[in-house]
Amino acid sequence: AKDPVRVLVTGAAGQIGYALVPMIARGVMLGPDQPVILHMLDIPPAAEALNGVKMELVDAAFPLLKGVVATTDAVEACTGVSVAIMVGGFPRKEGMERKDVMSKNVSIYKSQASALEKHAASNCKVLVVANPANTNALILKEFAPSIPEKNITCLTRLDHNRALGQISERLSVQVSDVKNVIIWGNHSSTQYPDVNHATVKTPTGEKPVRELVADDAWLNAEFIATVQQRGAAIIKARKLSSALSAASSACDHIRDWVLGTPEGSWVSMGVYSDGSYNVPAGLIYSFPVTCKNGEWSIVQGLSIDEFSRKKLDLTAEELTEEKALAYSCLS
Ligand code: NDP
Repeated sequence: AKDPVRVLVTGAAGQIGYALVPMIARGVMLGPDQPVILHMLDIPPAAEALNGVKMELVDAAFPLLKGVVATTDAVEACTGVSVAIMVGGFPRKEGMERKDVMSKNVSIYKSQASALEKHAASNCKVLVVANPANTNALILKEFAPSIPEKNITCLTRLDHNRALGQISERLSVQVSDVKNVIIWGNHSSTQYPDVNHATVKTPTGEKPVRELVADDAWLNAEFIATVQQRGAAIIKARKLSSALSAASSACDHIRDWVLGTPEGSWVSMGVYSDGSYNVPAGLIYSFPVTCKNGEWSIVQGLSIDEFSRKKLDLTAEELTEEKALAYSCLS
């Protein structure tokens, strides 16, 4: 039998955390034959609720779950973890300025960077979910210099999956037959959902999404806006932000990173830019990636038309500004 893997979830008493931990304990993230030990971190005001989640995990009697650590101590939470899902973050409340939220979150990510760097397993894979996800991940990377930059990522897989979902609904095809959409850039409303390389499996072979939809006006406007604003639409409907889809996408992100992407298909991940596609190096930016042997690589050589170029640049500009704002909060 395999040794259990320790998986950290921060903000585990929150609503994404509540959806995420049972998925991890069921093997959705690391596979049905991989035992896990869950490390759940939250802040002292949430300690009692966190303990309640721990009780429910015991009550669910998950065969793969070999232990649960529920704590408000970052060092205890980070010790020995090989996967870290960073969901905890300060929510933007009514009347708060962007800078105030940024300031709270960068200080959280700076201190958690140190705890992870000192106490996590040396090959720990980190996924940041809490917003502003790209910039929180960047701060974590900068303040955990001994964690390889390849190991620090942020979640844009939910946006990617939303794009697959919209195409599948529009064409009335199975979502599993749609592939190779791309989310470029920031996990924010400037993200660019790109279908120019996306295809659908049909009885007569793979066909481009553009050919099948045959409505460029819809693809270039409504589709993009729907994906960009889906988070707000969920809040409006549910009075709470998306949680089950965020949790499910976090599992997809880690599973594909660890176990690999299928031949011929890619996924979107927020990763440290090396300057590919003329995206400024040194940002955490969402790119199309393939994964193999536990490592992602950016898909190279895709053609970028003028329409796309503008959108890639716009979201990069926003990230450059966020980075500057984050640093101004730290100094
Ligand atoms: P959620 O579990 O709903 O969300 C957690 C974070 O994920 C938020 O920053 C949220 O951003 C973000 N997020 C990223 N992508 C998505 C998405 N697609 N849909 C929804 N959320 C997304 O928040 P809760 O308030 O329920 O839980 C947060 C937990 O974090 C609490 O248990 C709290 O105690 C803890 N916390 C920890 C802190 C710390 O570690 N120091 C500080 C503050 C809170 P957004 O807000 O933009 O929706």
